[in-house]
Amino acid sequence: MSHTRTILIVGGGFTGLTAALRLAADPANKITLVESAPQLGGLAAGFPLAGTSLEKTYHHLFLTDTSILDLVRELGLADRLMWCDSSVGVFRDGRIYAFKTPQDLLRFDPCSFPGRWRTGLTALYLKHQKNWRGLAAVTAHDWMTRACGASAMASIWTPLLKGKFDRHYQNVSMAWLWARIHTRANSRSGGGGGSEKLGYFRGGFNVVTTALEAELRRRGVTLRTGATVSAISAERTAVINGETVAFDDCLFTGPSPALARLLPAGEAYRAYAGQLCRVEYLGAVCLVFTSDQDLGNYYWVNVNAPDAPFLVFLNHTRLVGRETYGGRHVYYIGAYLDPEGEVFGLPDAALKARWFAYLQRMFPEFEAGRVGEQHVFRFRAAQHIVDTQYAAKIPDYRTPVPGVWLANFSQIFPEDRGTNFAVREGEKVARLILAAAR
Ligand SMILES: Cc1cc2nc3c(=O)[nH]c(=O)nc-3n(C[C@H](O)[C@H](O)[C@H](O)COP(=O)(O)OP(=O)(O)OC[C@H]3O[C@@H](n4cnc5c(N)ncnc54)[C@H](O)[C@@H]3O)c2cc1C
Repeated sequence: MSHTRTILIVGGGFTGLTAALRLAADPANKITLVESAPQLGGLAAGFPLAGTSLEKTYHHLFLTDTSILDLVRELGLADRLMWCDSSVGVFRDGRIYAFKTPQDLLRFDPCSFPGRWRTGLTALYLKHQKNWRGLAAVTAHDWMTRACGASAMASIWTPLLKGKFDRHYQNVSMAWLWARIHTRANSRSGGGGGSEKLGYFRGGFNVVTTALEAELRRRGVTLRTGATVSAISAERTAVINGETVAFDDCLFTGPSPALARLLPAGEAYRAYAGQLCRVEYLGAVCLVFTSDQDLGNYYWVNVNAPDAPFLVFLNHTRLVGRETYGGRHVYYIGAYLDPEGEVFGLPDAALKARWFAYLQRMFPEFEAGRVGEQHVFRFRAAQHIVDTQYAAKIPDYRTPVPGVWLANFSQIFPEDRGTNFAVREGEKVARLILAAAR
């Protein structure tokens, strides 16, 4: 019979929750999961809207998200998942262009004709290219400029890179862009040739969080929200809301530099803390609002204008329907921003005024006075900067601090981080912890 191990999990996002589920498979493990927010779910957490739950940041799944899809089946939630036809547009030169099919690309006249052809052929090449390693040390900016030309860069790729990585856009690894194009192209039904299908849960991603929470409680896991770990020692103790607790294993799932701040001061862990701090993050700001106005024909609009103040305008109910939201249209406006920058820190009213003014340029019929509910959500560590040196920066699961493990989305590369990979990483680190205890 295995002896009792005390396991502390820091973070109640999808990584922490999944790791807790797998570690709880051994009843000898006494597990406590702590989350500093008042609710579980991390970046995928929801808030109440029209009697249901909606993510604070827009979320959907791809057909290729096998780790979370397996978990969803295991939790008995398969019937809550719906697969919906996606529709994508691009705002450029004062109008929105359809941007879903190869024909749409050929009609995208902000880009030169040769640029459109080169972009189409490049996307096809990347879809079938399986070896991304050779792309890791090259910047997406340089590689795509060579492949697609200046016109395609200006109208398609540079706005995408800038929107996602802000001032870091010229350093992003081509392996990241490869993964993004590869995933999207393979998330089409009918073996890749059909329309793009995106997954969403009736009741929002919160149904997964709630099911995980119920299952963890059933298995005896202690869940503490509103509880923050402020220090972790080399003697296998952690401070939770001022109280010192002992552990055999501690799994940290927050941002890498946040772990560096919890470690003991002094020489022993200085180099490791420095390595953790080399992983840089951008914050995300999402404005969610409802309206009785129907804005545009697309679920997702990339805002590719040079003066765009945000990356994406998203018509959530265009994808999933309005029935669940009392007939209201639900929209997101999203941007990735420097968490220390001016826009990230703007008061909500000023941010809304700025973003709604731009929305009116995209949709002249838009009336701010017809907006119903409106919420601004800010996350300080939402996207890691995957530059050309990134592969060497990825921290290991096992830390040099006795008993302390790390699993977070900064270990995901070259894929774009997502709930699917959070589940995959949570399962992987749980296997490592279980194996080390044997
Ligand atoms: C704008 C945006 C859009 C996205 N869209 C999608 C999408 O469409 N599909 C998709 O699958 N994914 C999407 N994602 C990504 C997805 O949300 C994340 O990859 C995933 O939720 C990460 O889970 P995690 O558990 O690794 O990290 P997190 O969710 O960040 O969880 C870590 C948790 O640790 C807690 N924590 C940190 N430090 C401490 C401490 N000291 N004490 C206690 N608690 C602590 C934090 O509060 C946090 O809740 C999106 C993300 C953003 C920002």
